[in-house]
Amino acid sequence: MSVSLLDLQHRTDEIVPQKPPVDPATLRHKQFLERPDWRRIPAYADVDEGQFLDHHWQSKRTITRPEKLLEALQGLVSDDFISDATKGFAIAPMSVRVTPYLLSLIDWSQPYADPLRIQFIPLASRFLPDHPKLGLDSLGERADAPVPGLTHRYADKALFLPLDTCPVYCRFCTRSYAVGVDTEEVEKTHFKVDEARWRRAFQYIASRPELEDVVVSGGDAYNLRAEQLLSIGETLLAMGNIRRIRLATKGPAVMPQKILTDDAWFDAVTRIVELGRKLHKEVALHTHFNHPNEITGITRDAMHKLLEHGITVRNQSVLIRGVNDDPETMRLLVKRLGHVNVHPYYVYVHDLVKGAEDLRTTVQAALDIEKQVRGSTAGFNTPTFVVDAPGGGGKRDAHSFEHYDRGTGISVYQAPSVKPGQQYLYFDPIDRLPAEGRSRWADPREHAVMIDEALRASR
Ligand SMILES: *Cc1c(COP(=O)(O)O)cnc(C)c1O
Ligand code: SF4
Repeated sequence: MSVSLLDLQHRTDEIVPQKPPVDPATLRHKQFLERPDWRRIPAYADVDEGQFLDHHWQSKRTITRPEKLLEALQGLVSDDFISDATKGFAIAPMSVRVTPYLLSLIDWSQPYADPLRIQFIPLASRFLPDHPKLGLDSLGERADAPVPGLTHRYADKALFLPLDTCPVYCRFCTRSYAVGVDTEEVEKTHFKVDEARWRRAFQYIASRPELEDVVVSGGDAYNLRAEQLLSIGETLLAMGNIRRIRLATKGPAVMPQKILTDDAWFDAVTRIVELGRKLHKEVALHTHFNHPNEITGITRDAMHKLLEHGITVRNQSVLIRGVNDDPETMRLLVKRLGHVNVHPYYVYVHDLVKGAEDLRTTVQAALDIEKQVRGSTAGFNTPTFVVDAPGGGGKRDAHSFEHYDRGTGISVYQAPSVKPGQQYLYFDPIDRLPAEGRSRWADPREHAVMIDEALRASR
């Protein structure tokens, strides 16, 4: 005899509760902002909902000059904040680029603490000196590039950078060597949309039978025109060796409107996914949310549309000090991503990036947070915490160090499937070390000694 679900519900009085009752109001991952209140920002006071929800308007009004940004913030923040940010922009290695949507998500009554402000607007007062072991392109992407803009580090996968622009520029960008326009601080290697360069990259990919997986990153796939995206997708899917493609874009986190209103672009993504499906190849979207506040009702609608079209979306976050480096926030982010059908894939320990030392935290912080996150939701929605080994070792599980000295902040990793026999070092930010570690780093003669100690201890 079968029991209907309804019968079971009627008999809840017979259930002996093992757990205390849960007040639905405490399930915060389901309670996100439906619409940001953009009209609070004087520059957008007259903007109606139709405009705000249109990706054309968002793109057209995207701010790309510090003066323009600071102008838009007049009256919202204190003069001290404006002058702090003005000085911050002057010393920052990344150019500024922010969407109105993103600005409308920032709590301007608390601009110093706001998790989105921290990611996009540098403040001189928060700057910390770079770690002495930091170099531009700390991941060695250029060293593993057989063709400019194509990194072939792992055996079966490659990273293709078709262009060098993004819908926004993040302060912590690992590719600050290439992405964005030149700033006063950095002269960059440019990856312009260049069909001849793309052809060389495709020829290389087709010539390597072991390559099965291509990450199309950037820059950002959001900034490719529909026909460019389609041509990249069709070319790669036509290669017999290619089994998987990922289109990487920050877009859903900073301008979800595009998925809902840019029909040509959305159509290109859908066609690539469907072509892949016909050929029994996987095409997925990889995106980049870092804080639960980045998920709104507009995001949910965009993610629903992707799900309805059968498009898998995975997320890669960066562990950022003051943004998501506590277990509560990370758990909320992970659960909220799952709620809108995005799979949390990775959380990266922050790379050694120029001008972003105040954003980094320690490997220990990653281990502590991981412990609190695992078990809070489905295993397939639980991100792996990784260190992208400086110098080109690739991503390693943060727990898998050969040695970790919490005093000097040096961890040692190996990558036997990527570069056998090599050792890779990651360095925690110095201001987070105990006093003894800080004073050793203050003495340049100690640097080689500390590194030597770590390498010896790991053997
Ligand atoms: C991250 C990355 C990939 C993809 O790695 P997964 O671990 O499969 O996500 C490929 N190539 C390079 C150079 C990368 O940095
Ligand atoms: S969107 Fe990605 S590639 Fe572009 S600036 Fe941000 S982190 Fe860098």
